[in-house]
Formats: sequence, C-alpha cells, structure tokens
Amino acid sequence: MTNKINIAIDGYSSCGKSTLAKAIAKNLNYIYIDSGAMYRTVAYYALEHGYVQSDGVIDEQMLVESLHLILIQFKYNSDTQEIETFLNGNCVDKEIRSMQVSAHVSAISAIKAVREKLVRIQQRMGENGGVVMDGRDIGTVVLPTAELKVFMTADVEVRAQRRFLQLKNNGVDISIDDVRENITQRDFQDTTRAADPLLKAWDAIILDNSNLTEEEQFSFLMVQARKAIEIKTLV
Ligand code: C5P
Repeated sequence: MTNKINIAIDGYSSCGKSTLAKAIAKNLNYIYIDSGAMYRTVAYYALEHGYVQSDGVIDEQMLVESLHLILIQFKYNSDTQEIETFLNGNCVDKEIRSMQVSAHVSAISAIKAVREKLVRIQQRMGENGGVVMDGRDIGTVVLPTAELKVFMTADVEVRAQRRFLQLKNNGVDISIDDVRENITQRDFQDTTRAADPLLKAWDAIILDNSNLTEEEQFSFLMVQARKAIEIKTLV
C-alpha cells in the first residue's frame, strides 16, 4: 500500500490555489492537477466551435454531444518546467487563461454532463494517491476521501489586485474593475450552481491568505501535509 496521500485544495477564484498546490506537489514529489484548466479547456472548445452565442447563451446540446471529441491532457514542459494543458494534441495553455474563457467558464462548468465527464477523469487521476488537486469540488465530490483538505479564501480586493498584476505581467490589457467583476461573478456562479457547487468540505481546514505571503502559506500547509502523511503511515 502506498503512503502517499491525496491533497484537495478548493476555494474562491484567484485565491492562489494553484501557486500553493504546485509548490506543495513539487516539494512532496506528488502530481499536481489543475482541475480548473480542464473546465477552461472545455469552455475554450465551446467558444472555438461556436457553441457560445454573443449574448453568452450556450448551445448545451451541441456541447454535450461533442464531449466525447474533447481529449484533455497535461504534459510536462522540461524547458519551462511547467505542466501544460493540451486539447486534442494542441497546447492551449495560454488560450484557456484569456478573459473570454474566464467570462464563460463558470456557465460551462455548471453543465451536469460536463462535470460528470471531468469528475470521472479527475477521480481516476487520484485513485493511487500522490496527487495535489485544486478546484471547487475536489474535497466534496472528486476526492472526498482525500487525507488533507484545504478551503482557501481571501478578501476580494486582495484577490483582484493579485490577479490584476498577474494578468498585467502576462501582457493582458485589462482594468482592475473588470478583474474584480469577473472574480465576483465566477464566485457567485460557482457557489450557487445546482451541480457540485463550491462548498467547504466539513473536514477541510480553512486558509484565509489575505495577509499571508506565499512562503507563510506554504509552511502552514507543509506542516499539515506532513501530519497527514504520518497518520497514513501509522494506520
Ligand atoms: O481554477 P480556475 O479559476 O482556473 O477555474 C476556472 C473555473 O472552472 C471556475 O471559476 C469554476 O467555474 C470551474 N471549476 C469548477 N470545478 C473545479 C474547478 C474549476 O467548476 N473543480
């Protein structure tokens, strides 16, 4: 039996979940899985195929019927030392981070059939342990038996500022008001949807990082991870 645990990190948009999850996975030599990238890839596919109308209405039937044509893969890029997301063999890592995808991804991810497909894949990825996965429903639906669950939150102003700077550094021309609006809108849609809404799992540790540096968050979570690994070794 493996001593490797699973770590589920859920929380609001732009809380720094992926930065923290990546750092923890690297330190433990675990696999990092960005479940949001998978929803973003489906949203990108829908946009590319014209399944999202200009008023934002989604052609759900066409999208659901096309789901079997969507192959999502994660591949390690040894030059950048980053994991990249591929859609049907093409790297879409940059495309899925666009504001256009951000504007529609929450509506796409509220579609039950989309969630069923992605949750199945995510559960397979986690079945042998040794995974750090971040998202919205990881501790509640995808990996409910994960040995360590974290629910991340932060003040919306702090999140908007961090995301704004990140986008600016990536050359995206956007105002902080638009960033804040997108974050607020996604949080609203993600917490109020019928299928697998964003919820704190009853056994998740809350991490409010409004006033914490990345190093402080990392140290906090590494302590929790080591404890959980030790417990798993004992049982
Ligand atoms: O994590 P990220 O912000 O990239 O996720 C993009 C969107 O994908 C979220 O706003 C949410 O609508 C959706 N998502 C989800 N369930 C997950 C991960 C992401 O519904 N497990």
